[in-house]
Amino acid sequence: KLSVFWFRRDLRLEDNTGLYYALQQETDVLPLFIFDRTILDDLEDKTDARVSFIHDQIQNLKEELEKKGSTLLVKYGTPEEVYQELIKKFEIQAIYTNRDYEPYAKKRDRAIEKLAEEKGISFLTFKDQVIFEPGEILNGSGEFYKVFTPFSRVWLSKFEETNIEALSYFHWKNLYQTKPEPLISLKEMGFERSSISIPSSNPNEEIIKYYDKTRNFPAENGTSRLGIHLRFGTISIRQLALKAASLNETYLNELIWREFYMMILDYNPQVVDKAFKPAYDQIPWRNNEEEFKAWCEGKTGYPIVDAGMRELNQTGYMHNRVRMIVASFLTKHLLIDWRWGEAYFAKKLLDFDLAANNGGWQWAAGTGTDAQPYFRVFNPSSQTEKFDKDLKYIKKWIPEFGTEKYPKPIVDHKFARQRALDTYKKALDR
Ligand code: FAD
Repeated sequence: KLSVFWFRRDLRLEDNTGLYYALQQETDVLPLFIFDRTILDDLEDKTDARVSFIHDQIQNLKEELEKKGSTLLVKYGTPEEVYQELIKKFEIQAIYTNRDYEPYAKKRDRAIEKLAEEKGISFLTFKDQVIFEPGEILNGSGEFYKVFTPFSRVWLSKFEETNIEALSYFHWKNLYQTKPEPLISLKEMGFERSSISIPSSNPNEEIIKYYDKTRNFPAENGTSRLGIHLRFGTISIRQLALKAASLNETYLNELIWREFYMMILDYNPQVVDKAFKPAYDQIPWRNNEEEFKAWCEGKTGYPIVDAGMRELNQTGYMHNRVRMIVASFLTKHLLIDWRWGEAYFAKKLLDFDLAANNGGWQWAAGTGTDAQPYFRVFNPSSQTEKFDKDLKYIKKWIPEFGTEKYPKPIVDHKFARQRALDTYKKALDR
């Protein structure tokens, strides 16, 4: 008899809640990772950097577990197929795993739980990727918060009251001892290695310490770049939040935004394709394909927008300030559906996270949880003046800036701003 520990968005051995509890039991624990075909088959880009990143992490985990006399069993297929096969091969007592709040993940887990129950196997899940999960921070009437500020206040006071600790002393002796099998290659799954480099998972304390002062300037190295590591759990949120609490409140506040959007998505799975505020689905988006293409390629003639899109296309990253500007530009200046922009980001961002991306896009489009109404239309020039005054960021990403080769603005700012306000007003007055 053995138990399975199933890794998903928690690709680390350190401070991993589900793994910790699995190892506390008497039964041997077989660690498992599934390269899920349902997800991989949908990826168009076969050099997707996130797949290479995951593959590297899996290789590391496998090696670390092999040093402990065990292995990481790595399968390629759909989770249901894989579990059907494992149930035939092993006498499984329980499946341990950490909870995930995305709609696809919840559906997948319900299916595996059902399959397990039919065979008398327990399916045990744990909170691991957040400090407080959906349902833990509620208002006085027991409802979820629709705006961020009161949510963050309650989050913070609960954080102060709760004894949050990183888990240590894992019972490694309870790992299932077995001979390793070779790891499936990227090629065997139809992928190739990406040349995009991934930032370190080691939090840079200096950056976090001065975060409130530097975070808005895209030319500076002033944010932590931990997004991808939070996404795939190559860093523990407990360790990071404890560090943040001792170093910089503003940084901790960003980690609260992350949990706020996860909660919003968990309670409102419809936001995946609908506006959080339903009335905003009446906006008649212009959806001009040529303009969308110019935006994607960083050729709108608005330097701060173009610099951001080129940073994204070349590195899989875009600075948060610039994400807000390009998203506002697409939805307001060009009146292109936020879902188009969201989908483009989902393909390109290394740190892509459904909840944060959807939340960010709906915030920019004015359709989301923002307490402010839709009238905020970022002015690309004044944003540049404030946050990239000496044009360092712009020049870095647009070598032809200031030459004849650089395109003329695809739309006039004043005209576009008024058109956005009129269109939104008309749609919402209906
Ligand atoms: P830091 O500034 O160092 O922040 C630390 C961490 O806090 C981030 O890694 C992230 O996990 C979290 N965080 C920070 N800001 C936010 C926020 N506004 N909402 C939720 N979490 C936040 N973030 C993603 O993680 N994935 C996305 O797909 C994503 N899409 C976005 C789309 C738009 C249109 C906008 C405006 C924002 C989006 N964000 C997204 C939020 C934010 O831009 C990124 O988290 C941040 O830029 C990542 O860089 P960093 O790791 O250096 O973050």
